[in-house]
Amino acid sequence: MSTLLVKHAAVLVTMDDHRREILDGGLFIRDGFIEQVEHTGSLPESADKVIDLSDHVVLPGLINTHHHFYQTLTRAVPAAQDANLFNWLKTLYPIWARMKPEDIQVSTQVALAELALSGCTAASDHLYIFPNGSQLDDEINAGQQVGLRLHASRGSMSLGESSGGLPPDSVVEEEGFILQDSQRLIETYHDPNPGAMVQVVLAPCSPFSVTADLMRQSAALAREYSVQLHTHLAETQDEEVFCVEKFGYRPVAYMDVLNWTGSDVWFAHSVYVNSDEIELYAQTGCGVAHCPTSNMRLASGIAPIVDMVDAGVKVGLGVDGSASNDGSHLLEEARQAMMVARVRAGLFGASLSNSRETPLMTARQALEIATRGSASVLGRADLGSLEVGKCADFTAINLNRLGYAGALHDPVAAVIFCAPVQVDYTVVGGNMVVERGQLVTVDLPVLIESHNKAAHRLLAGS
Ligand SMILES: [Zn+2]
Repeated sequence: MSTLLVKHAAVLVTMDDHRREILDGGLFIRDGFIEQVEHTGSLPESADKVIDLSDHVVLPGLINTHHHFYQTLTRAVPAAQDANLFNWLKTLYPIWARMKPEDIQVSTQVALAELALSGCTAASDHLYIFPNGSQLDDEINAGQQVGLRLHASRGSMSLGESSGGLPPDSVVEEEGFILQDSQRLIETYHDPNPGAMVQVVLAPCSPFSVTADLMRQSAALAREYSVQLHTHLAETQDEEVFCVEKFGYRPVAYMDVLNWTGSDVWFAHSVYVNSDEIELYAQTGCGVAHCPTSNMRLASGIAPIVDMVDAGVKVGLGVDGSASNDGSHLLEEARQAMMVARVRAGLFGASLSNSRETPLMTARQALEIATRGSASVLGRADLGSLEVGKCADFTAINLNRLGYAGALHDPVAAVIFCAPVQVDYTVVGGNMVVERGQLVTVDLPVLIESHNKAAHRLLAGS
């Protein structure tokens, strides 16, 4: 039994059903779960550990629904800086093909460290390339040291260039092995219980890198074990053309015929979806991982997120792989979501439904997507808000900082409107990951040095 008391938060954002924001708020936590969420005066006076968060805003931990950790090794690669998705991929596939297990390990820790310092408490990663003996195990085992919750997606590519796919044949896997390995990973690591630190997801990479048969079989296997399904979808116009020409369907319709719709499925991007497809997402319960920075970086487009939220689609936030962002700053991503929604509103009108009280996405709506929204996308009823019975996952930011000077009339909005910061506390299941602005679970300077060596080696071609 261990208890943690958090007290005197300047404002504590619950993201509960009433969206309560508690001034001088606090939490009483027992064994990793929230027992009380109250005004500080109503909480117990002592606990095994007590943290006074006067002058801090406390938020539910931000949740990242789409990433490729390994891509931290190939940020800002010169030849891929100014390419669209398909050319960017063709440039990077050969570099990624040189990775070894230790590269997966070090990049996983770098990405998770960066996420933790941006207020993230749970992350989904999509690993779909396994060169030179690499396995998803490398990511799961290295990731656990950082202390964030991990939804590790067993990605896959099986449709090489010689079969009409985009990736070179050297990086695709045999489908029988993909399914066998997926089953092994679920049986070894997946924890379906509240408070789970690791879950496994099945995630064929995209319509243009796997066969229809692998999509169908992955769905059947996932449902046999009640794990979630994830893939990239409707990211670019190139993909839409590819799907129509090769399969005879637009991307969403193609997913529907493959039995890839349902509340256990979430798609990254969904930039090119029309109102009928948004309605299909809402009716079937499909979730969306919105990755605004990546969509801007690769000139993919602007996803109609406000329309999706209005239609009742589950929408979460993702930083996407670090070669198309090129950062893993989830708080910044929430800011980008708000900003790009406003660009879209300026270009096309606020929402197709015209039913909104506020025509523009607000700071609180962006925070909601990054917390409650992301939790629903990952199927985690135990995450996403600070409520009794939920996991004790939160982040806290000291308001006494240059970047917030002049914005303290609304500290909650300040964390989105003002320049993105590194957070002061990130706590997962009552355990400190970031404390007083320092990552406490891994040695950051050592990690950065070994990561830079690995990146240099990959780019040098060895
Ligand atoms: Zn991605």
